[in-house]
Amino acid sequence: MIKKFIRKILGVKDQRDPTEPVVLGAAEHGIDPKLLSSNAIRVTSTLQDAGFKAFVVGGAVRDLLLGVKPKDFDIATNATPEEVKKLFRRAFIIGRRFQIVHVMFGQDLLEVTTFRGAGPANAPKDEHGRVLRDNTFGPQHEDAMRRDFTINAMYYNPATQEVLDYHGGIADIRDKTLRIIGQPEARYREDPVRMLRVVRFAAKLQFTIEPSTREPIPVMAPLIDNVPAARVFDEMLKLLMSGHALACLQQLRKEGLHHGLLPLLDVVLEQPIGMKFVTLALESTDNRVKAGKGVSPGFLFASLLWHQVVEKWTAYRAAGESPIPALHLAADDVLESQTEQLALQRRIASDMRDIWSMQPRFERRNGKTPYKLLEHPRFRAGYDFLLLRCASGEIEMELGEWWTAFYEGDPNEREQLVATANAAPSGAKRKRAPRRAPRNKTGAAASESTTSEE
Ligand code: ATP
Ligand code: MG
Repeated sequence: MIKKFIRKILGVKDQRDPTEPVVLGAAEHGIDPKLLSSNAIRVTSTLQDAGFKAFVVGGAVRDLLLGVKPKDFDIATNATPEEVKKLFRRAFIIGRRFQIVHVMFGQDLLEVTTFRGAGPANAPKDEHGRVLRDNTFGPQHEDAMRRDFTINAMYYNPATQEVLDYHGGIADIRDKTLRIIGQPEARYREDPVRMLRVVRFAAKLQFTIEPSTREPIPVMAPLIDNVPAARVFDEMLKLLMSGHALACLQQLRKEGLHHGLLPLLDVVLEQPIGMKFVTLALESTDNRVKAGKGVSPGFLFASLLWHQVVEKWTAYRAAGESPIPALHLAADDVLESQTEQLALQRRIASDMRDIWSMQPRFERRNGKTPYKLLEHPRFRAGYDFLLLRCASGEIEMELGEWWTAFYEGDPNEREQLVATANAAPSGAKRKRAPRRAPRNKTGAAASESTTSEE
């Protein structure tokens, strides 16, 4: 109803001709030109001065229409990658499946993409219908058709301040609807990662997933298994680092989409014991992202998978292994079970291992042991992780408090702390300290670690 009404006001026909965009002027779309980066304007105007078409496209237009300052700007043009490269001093052609040009101005990176043709029908595919390479160029309306969602298929020309809308994206933005372009099943088959993108955008933007966009997902989710693990990892990282990770995971669960999308999600969302821990970890990550601070993927994945590690660690100990080797075996199992679908880069996996394997070492507070641990290059991350375990109620607060005092203490205080820890009857350490106000402290601390990590 509302959509029809808006379409009527905007003069959008219900039966749109997908080759002809609706063109909206500044007064109609209301984009504030101040939200545009000067480098985005530099790229579009350079291309236009050279006789090419050039627009800001995709997520940036969506964010501009929502009144949000885009975090990055993608540019679409009819110039080929080689033609683009010639126009800028620092420009690099990258990508295989999808060739694009990176244009750099200092630290600022802009992605410039040549309009893609409707191609998928002829593009090379795997046996499940997933498009393997897609570098056929084509007219702008075909480029719009190949984009994923209506709200991601709009083009903004900074020179004229016009928005070109090919698929009713403006109406969907106003209606807070996430709608895939074209036939949903076909689009998920071409690229199953779009199913993860649905969830990310719905949660991040707090949009409703339009029913025919949502319906095929539970059935088609297993197709994600055939996507190269590195790509799934990239998309998963975007989801987790969107500043709305917790909302994304809750949304996945609410939509019943967490089954079979990724083993990681099954693990995280199916275990009520781990949920408190994961919730705290994600809350802290989201706050950090929103505050514009860096986030360490190692810390994040270590948190998400911790309870699976604990479960296996307990099992190995019950089978007679001593604690530290048991933990290593558990870590190996968990990392192995994930990497089939999620290519955890080696550096990230090694950060995860470091964080996990430090945990039993925090229990040892005699002699030189705590001093040695303090010198561990990943100490800060391991310590933040420990605080998270305390805050979630997994272990006693006392241990975290002791380590905070030790970490912050001067040499005398440290000596004292080691002496008291050693003097305390072992039973005293086991007693559960009252759970009080750990959240903020842990949240802030967990975030700290991430800076030192990056
Ligand atoms: P964000 O703000 O998170 O970067 P975004 O929409 O810009 O969101 P990107 O991954 O940067 O997301 O992609 C840029 C644009 O490229 C999208 O807006 C969309 O038009 C198009 N796109 C990206 N991935 C796909 C895909 N898998 N299938 C079709 N179109 C895609
Ligand atoms: Mg983007």
